[in-house]
Amino acid sequence: MKLTVLGSGSPEAYLRRASSGYLLDIGDDVVLFDCGGGVYDNLLRAGRKPSEITHIFFSHLHSDHMMDYARLIHAAWDEGGRPVQVFGPDPIGFITQGYFGPQGVLSHDLRARTELLPSQEVWKARGGTLPRPWPAPDVTEITPGFTFQGNGWRLTSCEVPHAQPALTCMAFAVESEGRKFVYSGDAGICDALTALITDADLLLHWCYRLDGETAHPLMLPVTPTPSQIAQVAKSAGVKRLLLTHFRIHMDAPEGHAAALKALAEHFGENSRIVEDLDEYTV
Ligand SMILES: [Zn+2]
Repeated sequence: MKLTVLGSGSPEAYLRRASSGYLLDIGDDVVLFDCGGGVYDNLLRAGRKPSEITHIFFSHLHSDHMMDYARLIHAAWDEGGRPVQVFGPDPIGFITQGYFGPQGVLSHDLRARTELLPSQEVWKARGGTLPRPWPAPDVTEITPGFTFQGNGWRLTSCEVPHAQPALTCMAFAVESEGRKFVYSGDAGICDALTALITDADLLLHWCYRLDGETAHPLMLPVTPTPSQIAQVAKSAGVKRLLLTHFRIHMDAPEGHAAALKALAEHFGENSRIVEDLDEYTV
């Protein structure tokens, strides 16, 4: 498996880091985890195309994990790609209909593109046939514990504490050819996640707060620090640890250095803070 980081940031407007998005190549499948703002552009920067993506899995539906969803689906459709398989918690069906349904916010655009004669001629000149169907992502709403069998890979999931009860929030593990990749989503440490990351070859874990950084008491249990994440990962037998979802202030030189020091101290050498467009072999 190959991981490409398409967005390692947060909702904050930050040129260095797009919002969350991670591409996992597994055999012939191209799986995208989350699709926050800026992910679309970084996909192109990585030399990839929207229509290459075969599956999208949403960890949860905070805006910074889905803001480029419509753009990606629309572009894949425009390229003539096959419908993308989309998996996410409720309300991903409502959101998809809200974009691409008969009364969706893109319905006026889609009517123009598929019904106007000049647009139809452009479509035919590009090799298309009529009638031209609308984008139709194949959406499945999922709940924690959901599993999926891909071609040569298997995905498992668990619930993680983050934005409940407003949003269902999940972590995902993918196993293929004896290797295991885990994406925490936005997550507090919990028993289910610790079980999911056990013996992972690569753990991609969100980090929203540095060691020693104050936060509201309600935030503390759901925003583990680099030291806390490193300790849990180490004791769970994780082989390689990558931190992501960094905020602007966490990239200040002293904060970044402190996070790296915590990783080295509590996990060891095989750990780092990712940057957009990084690639890792799992
Ligand atoms: Zn979130």
